[in-house]
Amino acid sequence: MFKGIGVSRGTVIGKVCLVDRSSICAIKYKVERAKIDDEVGRFTDAVEDTKSQIREIKARVSKDVGSKHVYILDTYIMILEDEMLINETIKGIKEEYVNAEWALKVSLDRFAGLFDSVEDEYLRGRKLDIQQLGSKIMSNLTGNLYEDLSDMDESIVIVAHDITPSDIIQMISKKVLGFVTDIGGKTSHTGIMAFALGIPAVVGLKDITTNVKTGDSIMVDGESGIVVVNPSKKDLRDFLKKQQGYKYYEEKLEEIKDLPAETKDGYEVKLMANIEYSNEIVSILNYGAEGIGLYRTEYLYLNRRDLPSEEDHFLDYKKLGKGLYPKSVVIRTLDIGADKFHFHLDPIQEANPALGLRGIRFSLSHLDIFKTQLRGILRASYYGDIKIMYPMISTIEEVREANKIVKDVQDELTQKGIPFNKDIEIGVLIETPSAVMIADLLAKEVNFFSIGTNDLIQYTLAIDRVNERVTYLYQPLHPSILRMIKSVLSAAHKEGISVGICGEMGGDPLNIMILLGLGEIRELSMNPRSIPEIKKMIRLITLEEVRGIADRAISLTSVDEINEFAKNEMERLSSRE
Ligand code: PEP
Ligand code: MG
Repeated sequence: MFKGIGVSRGTVIGKVCLVDRSSICAIKYKVERAKIDDEVGRFTDAVEDTKSQIREIKARVSKDVGSKHVYILDTYIMILEDEMLINETIKGIKEEYVNAEWALKVSLDRFAGLFDSVEDEYLRGRKLDIQQLGSKIMSNLTGNLYEDLSDMDESIVIVAHDITPSDIIQMISKKVLGFVTDIGGKTSHTGIMAFALGIPAVVGLKDITTNVKTGDSIMVDGESGIVVVNPSKKDLRDFLKKQQGYKYYEEKLEEIKDLPAETKDGYEVKLMANIEYSNEIVSILNYGAEGIGLYRTEYLYLNRRDLPSEEDHFLDYKKLGKGLYPKSVVIRTLDIGADKFHFHLDPIQEANPALGLRGIRFSLSHLDIFKTQLRGILRASYYGDIKIMYPMISTIEEVREANKIVKDVQDELTQKGIPFNKDIEIGVLIETPSAVMIADLLAKEVNFFSIGTNDLIQYTLAIDRVNERVTYLYQPLHPSILRMIKSVLSAAHKEGISVGICGEMGGDPLNIMILLGLGEIRELSMNPRSIPEIKKMIRLITLEEVRGIADRAISLTSVDEINEFAKNEMERLSSRE
């Protein structure tokens, strides 16, 4: 039995498909002799595609940030033109009768090994470049890592060192029941997406990839984080019982789907959905969402080679705005960076991406990309109740600059006679400690705040969201976080603007009493699957009693005491049912 971090509840039993993602991901298979030339052709085409994409990115990046930043792209082209890598791979395909992905992986590993053995520190550092380039060719080669899985007869559980958000998108239509990984933390975007899509997942298992082989049977409990390989009959019985328990619980929650999220003393909270795709619209309504409080638009940019056009943005947002009207839709502008790294958009790999050119910082330094998205949002605003939200704000200048760009885009549209909502509301995510400290000032510049607790916890407790070694410090009820939330609520209310919460913290019933007791929160946006459970909790409490609970919680000195207190209070309130 293995214990990791459950990030997406649900239980599954399936067959292991071990994907080697620790360096370069590749599945090995034999290629018939007659098809070897085609296989070589597939590889050389992928190399040519990669070269032309890199040249294209180089041209764009040089225009945006100047040619001195594109040295890494020159390195990539040089490696691609080096006969050694190409010939080695072709030789591998021809001599071993293996697929191009596998042959490429073998030669890349060999190449990387050479870099390991050189003394020069700079050259050793180039190993990363090779790996990055390797994944690039690989994605051109396979187009889709999970394509091969469609040939599999059985339903499978992916076991990998790591899974990226774009991998998850590819799993949707395949026979992937769930996944487990060596690394990853509680609020990694991979986990968040898996939960939203109902794919049970356990991350942070440290070395699960070395303890299973393809074809083993595996049980995954995405709630407790327990994973069992080749289970006994007893394990299976216990598991099925647990599965039935979850099913019964979810059915019970279904019953309150259409009731309001209102406390016993009549305080109503709007429960909204966080979404990653515009086609989640039907499912969010099924969970009882009253709108979309966070649309993570990064996913529009993933899994494609080109950038989304203004029309792509417009049609996507219009579909949401129109489809949900009069419910509102908050569209967050691009929040690329951190664990949503995207090679096509930004080929420069940063040492500390969570602290790098992320969110609004990226948009403000890539105005073409930012303006294209804003034009799409503004045009769509004519068809629904659409709001704009900026991610990763840490200074007031960023807000002012972004607002000025919105204004420029609005002027352009007016000049062209294109309709849009002139009173569109603009908000910011409060997710950095600096934004908390200047919340009173930021409140004068925008119409609303949404507290992004995932990042706020990451930056306040100084923990990388995707690093399982520090997940124990993901502590939503840490006194620092409670104090920060309280101070943001009070700053916003002084200025008369509304505040919501859209981090995972708001989707955990344990936190709800305290959050609602800390100050006026009228909106909570969460993973849609959490909505029924949160509604159930809200309907159990009175605002008056949770104010008392929050006062007591914030007076305690340690997170352990607060957690203990919150658990006891939750049990007490739930037993009143
Ligand atoms: C957050 O940081 O809390 C948030 C809601 O945004 P994301 O999880 O996409 O970073
Ligand atoms: Mg965030």
